[in-house]
Amino acid sequence: MHNPVHLKLDLAIRGLRLSDELERQALLARPAAARDYASREIQLVLPEGIVASCQVDTEAAAASPYSLNLRNDTFLLSKDAADSGDQEEVRVSVLPAPQFYERSTTAGTPMWKVGTVHGSYISIDPATTCGFAVKGVACEFCTLARGGADRQDLVPVDEILEVVRAAFEEGVAEFVYLNTGYFDEDDGGFETLQPYVAAVKDEFDTLVALQVQPPRSNKWIDRTYAAGVDALCYNIEIFDAELLARYCEGRDRLVGRDRYYEALEYAAKVFPSGTVWSNLIVGIEPPESTAQGIEALTKIGVLPVLSLFRPLDETSLAHHPLPEPDEVAPLYEKLYRAVRDARINVHWMRDLGYAVTPIEARYFAGDDAKLDVALGSFYRSRIGSRAAKSLSKLRRRLRVRQVSESFDSSKL
Ligand code: SF4
Repeated sequence: MHNPVHLKLDLAIRGLRLSDELERQALLARPAAARDYASREIQLVLPEGIVASCQVDTEAAAASPYSLNLRNDTFLLSKDAADSGDQEEVRVSVLPAPQFYERSTTAGTPMWKVGTVHGSYISIDPATTCGFAVKGVACEFCTLARGGADRQDLVPVDEILEVVRAAFEEGVAEFVYLNTGYFDEDDGGFETLQPYVAAVKDEFDTLVALQVQPPRSNKWIDRTYAAGVDALCYNIEIFDAELLARYCEGRDRLVGRDRYYEALEYAAKVFPSGTVWSNLIVGIEPPESTAQGIEALTKIGVLPVLSLFRPLDETSLAHHPLPEPDEVAPLYEKLYRAVRDARINVHWMRDLGYAVTPIEARYFAGDDAKLDVALGSFYRSRIGSRAAKSLSKLRRRLRVRQVSESFDSSKL
């Protein structure tokens, strides 16, 4: 099979089937619905500690050549060979869904609706919807484009702290990622979000990353840094101006393409190297356009993160063609070289299941040097300790969780 990062890319494009036995066991069960991809994914740990998010409940995944199987109790990732009918196999581990997904907050909200774990961070949206959706200009690839959002409410700070505490106590997350949408304010939502940042920093010894749309003036970027935000993201998503206007009307009309680059450039001068990033979606525009996006971002000191276009079945882009792995692989080589040449720190960006990080992109550049220490020490990391190589280990873990839960509830 491919090297693990090629494999991660291929899995991200094609998705994964579960063997009948694993479907029957239902140990990899996921919540029935979620605002983001979390409900349709499982996370695998591939050789060399590469974390890969694999979609499992989509049309594309049903036709994937990849399947997750069990042999002698261990997890095997198999790939059907196109012509021969043979199978290639590699051992993998599975990251079980966090236990707190089964709990509710004191106010009765299922915790998975408040925060989901990806790699080593918990992703939380303090707003109930995105301001673009309220104005009817949500991005075409987003579930919110289906409409139905008439107002933007906020999740109470205490409820968010409760979920972060649950994730930290369970040991499934180390950082907090406030991942939110558009606020129709000059400050881009700073005043709204600042109490969340302050409460998390006050309560926990952790790093906070913030993803939001750019404010209208740069003074709010200074205020964001002063408020204790450790890393900041304004996602441009699409480099090509016409395609951005077509697929992201809110970004184009209410923020303006140029404002993303201005704000990112300013933020990269305020925040430490490697802590300001922007996502580009690979596969939604021609590769040469994404390549220009990589150049534009690295030139202003911003770290590009390349996530793969994975059209959701219920959006208007459901039948948009998927990218071909060979066609997009050169973008990752470009990413590695552009970030290295611009001397942007890459150590912040790791353990992203949904995207190939610049550290991982080294695999595409034919660089045989050992991977970063952060990857080498994977099996000493929290993710390494959570990963289950075998079904019995996964079961034992779930069993231990049930036993400790019943002790907790009986107050023994
Ligand atoms: S910015 Fe676009 S993708 Fe993000 S939540 Fe808003 S509508 Fe969805």
